[in-house]
Amino acid sequence: MIELPESISLAKQLNETIKGKVIGNVVANASPHKFAWLSGDSAAYNALLKGKTVGESKGVGGKVEIEVENARVVLAEGINVRFFAAGETLPRKHQLLIQFTDGSALCCGVQMYGGLWAFIDGTFDNEYYLVAKRKPSPLSDAFDWNAFQAMAKENANKSAKAFLATEQHIPGLGNGVLQDILFNARVNPKTKIGLLSEQELKTLFESVKTTLLQMANQGGRDTETDIFGNPGGYRTLMSNKTVGQLCPRCGGIIEKAAYMGGSVYICPGCQKVRK
Ligand SMILES: [Zn+2]
Repeated sequence: MIELPESISLAKQLNETIKGKVIGNVVANASPHKFAWLSGDSAAYNALLKGKTVGESKGVGGKVEIEVENARVVLAEGINVRFFAAGETLPRKHQLLIQFTDGSALCCGVQMYGGLWAFIDGTFDNEYYLVAKRKPSPLSDAFDWNAFQAMAKENANKSAKAFLATEQHIPGLGNGVLQDILFNARVNPKTKIGLLSEQELKTLFESVKTTLLQMANQGGRDTETDIFGNPGGYRTLMSNKTVGQLCPRCGGIIEKAAYMGGSVYICPGCQKVRK
Protein backbone atom coordinates (compact mmCIF):
# COMPACT_ATOMS: atom_id res chain seq x y z
CA MET A 1 0.00 0.00 0.00
CA ILE A 2 1.14 3.50 -0.76
CA GLU A 3 1.45 5.37 2.54
CA LEU A 4 3.12 8.70 3.27
CA PRO A 5 6.80 7.66 2.84
CA GLU A 6 5.99 5.92 -0.43
CA SER A 7 3.86 8.77 -1.82
CA ILE A 8 6.75 11.17 -1.16
CA SER A 9 9.35 8.80 -2.67
CA LEU A 10 7.23 7.93 -5.72
CA ALA A 11 6.53 11.63 -6.38
CA LYS A 12 10.25 12.38 -6.19
CA GLN A 13 11.04 9.63 -8.69
CA LEU A 14 8.25 10.78 -11.02
CA ASN A 15 9.67 14.30 -10.97
CA GLU A 16 13.03 12.85 -12.00
CA THR A 17 11.62 10.66 -14.79
CA ILE A 18 8.35 11.87 -16.35
CA LYS A 19 8.18 15.60 -15.54
CA GLY A 20 8.14 17.58 -18.80
CA LYS A 21 7.07 14.62 -20.93
CA VAL A 22 4.11 14.99 -23.27
CA ILE A 23 1.30 12.43 -23.05
CA GLY A 24 0.66 10.66 -26.35
CA ASN A 25 -1.98 8.12 -25.39
CA VAL A 26 -3.84 6.90 -22.29
CA VAL A 27 -5.52 3.53 -21.79
CA ALA A 28 -7.68 3.16 -18.69
CA ASN A 29 -9.27 -0.03 -17.39
CA ALA A 30 -7.77 -2.30 -20.06
CA SER A 31 -7.98 -5.22 -17.61
CA PRO A 32 -11.14 -4.49 -15.60
CA HIS A 33 -10.61 -5.08 -11.88
CA LYS A 34 -13.38 -5.23 -9.30
CA PHE A 35 -11.46 -3.06 -6.86
CA ALA A 36 -9.92 -0.54 -9.25
CA TRP A 37 -11.61 2.76 -8.56
CA LEU A 38 -11.78 5.08 -11.55
CA SER A 39 -13.18 8.60 -11.72
CA GLY A 40 -16.01 8.64 -14.21
CA ASP A 41 -15.77 7.17 -17.67
CA SER A 42 -12.47 5.41 -18.35
CA ALA A 43 -12.85 6.19 -22.07
CA ALA A 44 -12.64 9.89 -21.22
CA TYR A 45 -9.14 9.56 -19.70
CA ASN A 46 -7.42 9.78 -23.07
CA ALA A 47 -9.38 12.88 -24.14
CA LEU A 48 -8.61 14.52 -20.80
CA LEU A 49 -4.85 13.89 -20.80
CA LYS A 50 -3.64 13.44 -24.40
CA GLY A 51 -1.32 16.16 -25.69
CA LYS A 52 -0.73 17.62 -22.23
CA THR A 53 2.63 18.02 -20.49
CA VAL A 54 3.37 16.39 -17.14
CA GLY A 55 4.15 18.88 -14.37
CA GLU A 56 5.05 18.45 -10.71
CA SER A 57 4.17 15.29 -8.78
CA LYS A 58 3.65 15.35 -5.04
CA GLY A 59 2.68 13.10 -2.15
CA VAL A 60 -0.67 14.01 -0.63
CA GLY A 61 -1.15 11.82 2.42
CA GLY A 62 -0.95 8.29 1.05
CA LYS A 63 -1.69 9.40 -2.50
CA VAL A 64 0.49 10.45 -5.39
CA GLU A 65 -0.83 13.48 -7.25
CA ILE A 66 0.54 14.21 -10.72
CA GLU A 67 -0.12 17.61 -12.25
CA VAL A 68 -0.93 17.43 -15.95
CA GLU A 69 -1.64 21.06 -16.89
CA ASN A 70 -5.28 21.68 -15.82
CA ALA A 71 -5.82 18.00 -15.03
CA ARG A 72 -4.65 15.78 -12.19
CA VAL A 73 -3.86 12.08 -12.01
CA VAL A 74 -4.09 10.64 -8.50
CA LEU A 75 -2.88 7.16 -7.55
CA ALA A 76 -4.03 5.85 -4.18
CA GLU A 77 -3.76 2.81 -1.91
CA GLY A 78 -2.62 -0.48 -3.44
CA ILE A 79 -1.40 0.72 -6.83
CA ASN A 80 1.77 -0.53 -8.48
CA VAL A 81 3.34 2.38 -10.34
CA ARG A 82 6.03 1.44 -12.87
CA PHE A 83 8.03 3.44 -15.35
CA PHE A 84 9.09 1.83 -18.63
CA ALA A 85 11.68 3.35 -20.93
CA ALA A 86 11.09 3.38 -24.69
CA GLY A 87 11.42 -0.13 -26.12
CA GLU A 88 10.86 -1.97 -22.82
CA THR A 89 8.12 -4.59 -22.78
CA LEU A 90 4.98 -3.42 -21.01
CA PRO A 91 2.97 -5.72 -18.71
CA ARG A 92 -0.04 -7.30 -20.41
CA LYS A 93 -2.43 -6.41 -17.62
CA HIS A 94 -2.91 -2.89 -16.32
CA GLN A 95 -5.63 -0.53 -15.19
CA LEU A 96 -3.92 2.70 -16.27
CA LEU A 97 -1.30 3.07 -18.99
CA ILE A 98 0.05 6.52 -19.79
CA GLN A 99 2.26 6.52 -22.88
CA PHE A 100 4.48 9.48 -23.64
CA THR A 101 5.39 10.85 -27.06
CA ASP A 102 9.03 9.75 -26.57
CA GLY A 103 8.01 6.08 -26.32
CA SER A 104 8.34 5.73 -22.55
CA ALA A 105 5.33 4.90 -20.37
CA LEU A 106 3.90 4.85 -16.89
CA CYS A 107 2.00 1.66 -16.18
CA CYS A 108 -0.25 1.29 -13.13
CA GLY A 109 -1.91 -1.84 -11.81
CA VAL A 110 -4.08 -2.62 -8.81
CA GLN A 111 -2.84 -5.09 -6.22
CA MET A 112 -5.81 -5.61 -3.88
CA TYR A 113 -7.68 -2.34 -4.34
CA GLY A 114 -6.86 1.23 -5.19
CA GLY A 115 -7.73 4.46 -6.93
CA LEU A 116 -6.55 5.57 -10.36
CA TRP A 117 -8.26 8.87 -10.82
CA ALA A 118 -7.98 11.51 -13.54
CA PHE A 119 -9.98 14.74 -13.50
CA ILE A 120 -9.87 18.48 -14.08
CA ASP A 121 -8.25 20.09 -11.03
CA GLY A 122 -10.88 21.24 -8.54
CA THR A 123 -13.70 19.04 -9.82
CA PHE A 124 -13.08 15.80 -7.92
CA ASP A 125 -15.24 15.50 -4.81
CA ASN A 126 -13.97 12.16 -3.46
CA GLU A 127 -13.97 12.49 0.32
CA TYR A 128 -10.74 10.49 0.84
CA TYR A 129 -8.92 12.76 -1.56
CA LEU A 130 -10.35 15.98 -0.09
CA VAL A 131 -9.49 14.98 3.51
CA ALA A 132 -5.92 14.14 2.48
CA LYS A 133 -5.63 17.55 0.82
CA ARG A 134 -7.16 19.44 3.74
CA LYS A 135 -5.39 17.94 6.77
CA PRO A 136 -1.77 18.87 7.54
CA SER A 137 0.88 16.30 6.69
CA PRO A 138 2.36 14.68 9.82
CA LEU A 139 5.74 15.85 8.54
CA SER A 140 4.65 19.51 8.40
CA ASP A 141 5.14 22.08 11.16
CA ALA A 142 1.36 22.47 11.40
CA PHE A 143 1.22 18.93 12.77
CA ASP A 144 2.68 19.80 16.17
CA TRP A 145 2.61 18.56 19.75
CA ASN A 146 -0.36 20.75 20.70
CA ALA A 147 -2.44 19.48 17.79
CA PHE A 148 -1.46 15.88 18.56
CA GLN A 149 -2.35 16.27 22.25
CA ALA A 150 -5.76 17.72 21.34
CA MET A 151 -6.37 14.80 18.96
CA ALA A 152 -5.36 12.33 21.68
CA LYS A 153 -7.83 13.90 24.14
CA GLU A 154 -10.69 13.60 21.64
CA ASN A 155 -9.77 9.96 21.00
CA ALA A 156 -8.85 8.90 24.54
CA ASN A 157 -11.08 5.80 24.35
CA LYS A 158 -9.60 4.58 21.10
CA SER A 159 -6.76 2.09 20.83
CA ALA A 160 -3.40 3.32 19.55
CA LYS A 161 -4.07 1.70 16.17
CA ALA A 162 -7.56 3.18 15.84
CA PHE A 163 -6.28 6.60 16.88
CA LEU A 164 -3.27 6.74 14.58
CA ALA A 165 -4.12 4.64 11.58
CA THR A 166 -7.88 4.60 10.87
CA GLU A 167 -10.40 7.02 9.39
CA GLN A 168 -7.57 9.10 7.92
CA HIS A 169 -6.99 10.76 11.31
CA ILE A 170 -3.48 11.37 10.01
CA PRO A 171 -3.29 11.41 6.19
CA GLY A 172 -0.84 8.83 4.85
CA LEU A 173 -0.42 7.07 8.20
CA GLY A 174 -1.94 3.63 7.61
CA ASN A 175 -1.53 0.16 9.05
CA GLY A 176 1.80 -0.33 7.26
CA VAL A 177 3.89 2.49 8.71
CA LEU A 178 2.00 2.17 12.01
CA GLN A 179 4.00 -0.91 13.05
CA ASP A 180 7.42 0.72 13.36
CA ILE A 181 5.94 3.94 14.78
CA LEU A 182 4.41 1.96 17.65
CA PHE A 183 7.48 -0.25 18.12
CA ASN A 184 9.78 2.77 18.35
CA ALA A 185 7.46 4.31 20.96
CA ARG A 186 7.06 0.96 22.80
CA VAL A 187 3.27 1.17 22.51
CA ASN A 188 1.01 -1.82 21.85
CA PRO A 189 -1.58 -1.24 19.07
CA LYS A 190 -4.35 -2.30 21.48
CA THR A 191 -3.42 0.11 24.29
CA LYS A 192 -6.00 2.85 24.79
CA ILE A 193 -4.56 6.27 24.04
CA GLY A 194 -6.06 7.73 27.22
CA LEU A 195 -3.96 5.33 29.33
CA LEU A 196 -0.61 6.75 28.15
CA SER A 197 1.15 9.25 30.39
CA GLU A 198 1.95 12.67 28.96
CA GLN A 199 5.57 11.61 28.49
CA GLU A 200 4.55 8.40 26.72
CA LEU A 201 2.23 10.35 24.45
CA LYS A 202 5.05 12.78 23.68
CA THR A 203 7.31 9.86 22.79
CA LEU A 204 4.59 8.52 20.49
CA PHE A 205 4.23 11.93 18.83
CA GLU A 206 7.98 12.12 18.25
CA SER A 207 7.99 8.59 16.87
CA VAL A 208 5.30 9.53 14.32
CA LYS A 209 7.55 12.33 13.03
CA THR A 210 10.94 10.65 13.17
CA THR A 211 9.83 7.23 11.90
CA LEU A 212 7.95 8.68 8.92
CA LEU A 213 10.82 11.02 8.08
CA GLN A 214 13.32 8.19 8.19
CA MET A 215 11.11 6.03 5.94
CA ALA A 216 10.61 8.88 3.46
CA ASN A 217 14.30 9.81 3.40
CA GLN A 218 15.25 6.23 2.64
CA GLY A 219 12.89 5.91 -0.32
CA GLY A 220 9.96 4.18 1.39
CA ARG A 221 9.66 0.81 3.10
CA ASP A 222 11.30 -2.40 1.89
CA THR A 223 7.85 -4.03 1.79
CA GLU A 224 6.87 -1.70 -1.09
CA THR A 225 8.38 -1.09 -4.51
CA ASP A 226 9.37 2.03 -6.41
CA ILE A 227 8.69 3.00 -10.04
CA PHE A 228 11.54 0.78 -11.22
CA GLY A 229 10.23 -2.20 -9.26
CA ASN A 230 12.94 -1.99 -6.59
CA PRO A 231 12.08 -2.26 -2.87
CA GLY A 232 12.34 0.89 -0.76
CA GLY A 233 15.56 1.45 1.20
CA TYR A 234 13.96 1.60 4.64
CA ARG A 235 14.31 -1.72 6.42
CA THR A 236 11.10 -2.40 8.32
CA LEU A 237 11.56 -3.51 11.92
CA MET A 238 8.06 -4.90 12.39
CA SER A 239 6.57 -6.43 9.23
CA ASN A 240 5.95 -9.69 7.39
CA LYS A 241 9.70 -9.62 6.66
CA THR A 242 10.65 -9.81 10.35
CA VAL A 243 7.86 -11.87 11.95
CA GLY A 244 9.35 -14.77 13.92
CA GLN A 245 12.73 -13.03 14.17
CA LEU A 246 14.29 -11.57 17.30
CA CYS A 247 13.30 -8.08 18.46
CA PRO A 248 16.30 -5.79 17.83
CA ARG A 249 15.74 -4.17 21.22
CA CYS A 250 15.01 -6.93 23.73
CA GLY A 251 15.46 -10.23 21.90
CA GLY A 252 11.79 -11.21 22.19
CA ILE A 253 10.20 -12.97 19.23
CA ILE A 254 8.26 -10.72 16.86
CA GLU A 255 4.62 -11.75 16.64
CA LYS A 256 1.91 -11.24 14.08
CA ALA A 257 -1.73 -10.86 15.09
CA ALA A 258 -4.99 -9.89 13.39
CA TYR A 259 -6.37 -6.69 14.82
CA MET A 260 -8.95 -4.27 13.43
CA GLY A 261 -9.02 -5.50 9.85
CA GLY A 262 -5.31 -5.93 9.29
CA SER A 263 -2.20 -7.59 10.65
CA VAL A 264 -0.21 -6.01 13.44
CA TYR A 265 3.40 -6.95 14.25
CA ILE A 266 4.61 -6.50 17.79
CA CYS A 267 7.30 -7.47 20.23
CA PRO A 268 5.53 -8.96 23.26
CA GLY A 269 8.54 -7.98 25.39
CA CYS A 270 8.60 -4.25 24.80
CA GLN A 271 5.07 -3.51 23.60
CA LYS A 272 2.88 -4.72 26.43
CA VAL A 273 -0.83 -3.90 26.38
CA ARG A 274 -1.56 -1.22 28.99
CA LYS A 275 -4.44 -2.10 31.26
ZN1 LIG B 1 11.33 -6.14 22.18
